[in-house]
This record gives sequence, C-alpha cells and structure tokens, in this order.
Amino acid sequence: KVNRQDFMMALDDVHPAFGVSEEELQQVIQNGIIHFDAGVDEILRSGQLLVEQVRTSTRTPLVSVVVHGPPGSGKTALAASIAQASQYPFIKLISPDSMVGFSESQKVNAINKVFADSYKSPLSVIVVDNLERLLEWTPIGPRFSNAVLQALLVLFSRRPPKGRRLLVLATSSLRPVLTEIGFTEFDSELRVPPISNLRSLDYILKEVELFQTREERKDAIRMLEDAGFASSSRDETNAKLHIGVKKLLSIIEMARQEPDNIGQRLTSALMGLGM
Ligand code: ATP
Ligand code: MG
Repeated sequence: KVNRQDFMMALDDVHPAFGVSEEELQQVIQNGIIHFDAGVDEILRSGQLLVEQVRTSTRTPLVSVVVHGPPGSGKTALAASIAQASQYPFIKLISPDSMVGFSESQKVNAINKVFADSYKSPLSVIVVDNLERLLEWTPIGPRFSNAVLQALLVLFSRRPPKGRRLLVLATSSLRPVLTEIGFTEFDSELRVPPISNLRSLDYILKEVELFQTREERKDAIRMLEDAGFASSSRDETNAKLHIGVKKLLSIIEMARQEPDNIGQRLTSALMGLGM
C-alpha cells in the first residue's frame, strides 16, 4: 500500500530539468562556513547586498561578480553560500569538475545551456566556478581556450531578456590573469583573504573540536605564538599566518587521525607551509 510518506519521498526524487541544484551546492559547502574572521561575514553580507540589488533594481538586470583569493581560501564555498541564501528560483553551478573530458565546443555548449535556461526564470544566480580552469589556462605558453573565453565574455555582458534578472558569481585564484587575457567584464569584486592570525586559527580549532580540552587548544596556540606568528589582525610585529581554510581543515582532519602531539604537528605543518 502506498502511503503519504512514500508519496512525499517520491516527490523528493523528482529533479526539475532546470532550477535549483541543491545537492551540487551542498556538496561544495561540505564543511559549512566557519565565521573565523569579520572578513567572512563582510563577504557574505556584500554578496547578500548584490543579491538584493539584482532582485530589486530595475536598472541592473545583470550583475557579475568575481570572488577571488588564494587557492583554498574558500571561494567556491562562499560563492555557493551566497547563491544558496538568495533563494532565487534558479540556482546553478557551472564547474570544470563536471566538464572533465569535454571538448572545447562541448564546454561552450554546456555553459550556453545553463545561461539559456536561466533566461527562462525571473531571478537567477549562476556560480561559474574556477574561471581559470574552465578557460584551460596554463602558464606555459601561456595558453587558454579562446572559444570558452569569447563565450563567457558574451554571457557575462549580455542583458537577460526583458523581465529577467541574473546574478553571476565567478570564482578565481588567478585574478591578475583574468585581466591579462581581457576578462574585465565584472561589475563587482569580492576578495577572500587567507587565515592570517592565531585568533582566527583558534576560532576554527574550537569550532571543529580538534582538542579534547580548552587547555590543549590554548597550549597549541601558545606554541604557535612562540614560533612567532601574529596573534591578531592588529599584531603588526609578528609574521602573519597564510593558509586557506580548505587546506587548514584538511591538516586538521589528518591530525585527528593521529591524536598524539597534535599541537606539535599542527605547528610544524603551519610553519612549513606557504599556502
Ligand atoms: P580552490 O582554490 O581549490 O578552488 P576554494 O578557495 O574554492 O579552493 P573551497 O573549495 O571553497 O575553497 O573550500 C573551502 C572549504 O572550507 C569548504 O569545505 C568549506 O565548507 C570550508 N569552510 C569553512 N569555513 C569557511 C569559510 N569561512 N569560508 C569558506 N569556506 C569555509
Ligand atoms: Mg574552488
């Protein structure tokens, strides 16, 4: 016998041909957003303002934003969070990960299709993740896909049809390269900073509960203080930490596997690290 619960479950399995790709977004925000610094909230708030601008302003039916920062600084997760929080009826992620093995023209087609679908919705947000990889940028040569570049340039500046509004959130770790190859179509920029001081690190360590006790955590932080790292954003004398939240979380998960001398190992990992 089919009951109401079965029916609701069946409904959950229905995926619209276009619309919100919840799972995709959820996947890139796997570890949530940790508010380790005022800068994190600023980015989310700026994103929210852009979402509101697209929703309400009649003069700007298209707004494009580049979310940029060092590798692993959390660009994709932040862009996806802004998109998700918009609650627009159409939210899509264009990611090079889903285009592995695509030819240049298959890529262009796939990108065009997402934009064309978005034009059917009154309000849309498209996250175009990792621009330089989408463009197949290589510093050797240097080389990139001109076909993909030309397609993106058009789509990033073409007004959606009448009554349609679109927010484009692109991410990039190589902001200067974009300018270099003539990708200058952005209306706005959001810079994602790395974790730069021990206060932020402490906040994250607390949040992920790496240590059993507060004392252990404080010991680890003290060890890093002694190693000469800046304790807060106001600390101008000591060296800044410089690590992306993605890499830090992966170091933390490795440390969790082997709970002996976590503080020590965290310290050496952070000291031996560029980014
Ligand atoms: P890449 O340069 O490799 O593309 P990225 O800058 O896009 O990396 P993400 O893939 O977004 O980085 O990885 C950030 C990870 O850290 C995600 O798993 C996310 O859930 C988690 N995270 C925790 N706190 C934050 C935060 N404040 N901002 C961004 N990401 C966060
Ligand atoms: Mg990314």
